[in-house]
Amino acid sequence: MARLDDANLPPLLDRFGRLHTYVRVSVTDRCNFRCVYCLPEEGATLSPRAELLQYEEIVRVVRVMAAMGLRRVRLTGGEPTVRRDLEQLVAGLSRLDGIDEITLTTNAHRFAAQAAALRAAGLHRVNISLDSLDAARFGQITRGGELGAVLAGIDAAVAAGLLPVKINMVVMGGVNDDEVVPMTRWALERAPAVQLRFIEYMPFDQRRHVGVSAAELRRRLVDAFGPLEPDGERHGGGPATHARIGPLVVGFISPITEHFCASCNRLRLLSDGHLRTCLAHEDTPSLRDLVRGGASDGELAATILGIVRGKPAGHLAELEGGTAFEGIMTRIGG
Ligand code: SAM
Ligand code: SF4
Repeated sequence: MARLDDANLPPLLDRFGRLHTYVRVSVTDRCNFRCVYCLPEEGATLSPRAELLQYEEIVRVVRVMAAMGLRRVRLTGGEPTVRRDLEQLVAGLSRLDGIDEITLTTNAHRFAAQAAALRAAGLHRVNISLDSLDAARFGQITRGGELGAVLAGIDAAVAAGLLPVKINMVVMGGVNDDEVVPMTRWALERAPAVQLRFIEYMPFDQRRHVGVSAAELRRRLVDAFGPLEPDGERHGGGPATHARIGPLVVGFISPITEHFCASCNRLRLLSDGHLRTCLAHEDTPSLRDLVRGGASDGELAATILGIVRGKPAGHLAELEGGTAFEGIMTRIGG
């Protein structure tokens, strides 16, 4: 492995000129839900706890990445709020030079009790998954989640000032696509504190549902609310495209029908320390052994850069029946 000068690390640039400023960290593969599109009913095989990166190890890896130009960190999972003392990780990350933004993606089932402490530790914003406003259906999609607890979590996020709170809805034909318009009305009543993002369903292994394209979603919104106002503003630098309905910002995340690989600036640090450059590729080594083996910052940086330079140009999945994404979403971090 080439040694790099610990004090002067190179930027996270890949072969296609993409500069990587954003990492999604899966802090645990554990989850208190088993959403039908994410996990099999029996749950996934969990990594032994000793294989999960410890908080100090996550902070170490992110510190090296920050010295290479990384600016934003999103904590995800599995369900990040089920890992004990999450605010300690947030506090550790918020002390790092160069990190401008720390965000969280959560199902919010436990968030009402945690929002204020996470905010105080340095969390900037939160994305909350909400696929139905019907309690029975919500329970079926999440296999046991309580809608009331999640709505309380959303209220707590707004009250804690984690604004705007972005609501993520995975739309599946015949499952919850009849709620696209009611969900938009619900979000409209809470705008601008709340934004709504429709996520295109991605096929993972055996979990096969019918996705609804962003083009179809836009058609349905236009029918219900009239022409969508274009929204050119950037809302967090992610891959969503946006429109406005009055005060409500609506985002469309379309990994399948509207590829955004060409501008992808993200890395994924998996709960077991593997570093993925693409959601759809199971090809990268773990940084965990390196960190535990006492590697210097320069050695860690050289390995990270090697992985980044191997990043593929894009993925090949198609809306229905295409290449299934590989791996388990809870380990990778959606
Ligand atoms: N547990 C947290 C949550 O649900 O928000 C964070 C982890 S979850 C894996 C992150 C995001 O991935 C969620 O918004 C979830 O809806 C999304 N997701 C999971 N499986 C998906 C799939 N097959 N297609 C599209 N989005 C998916
Ligand atoms: Fe858990 Fe989030 Fe996956 Fe649902 S989408 S099973 S809440 S990790």
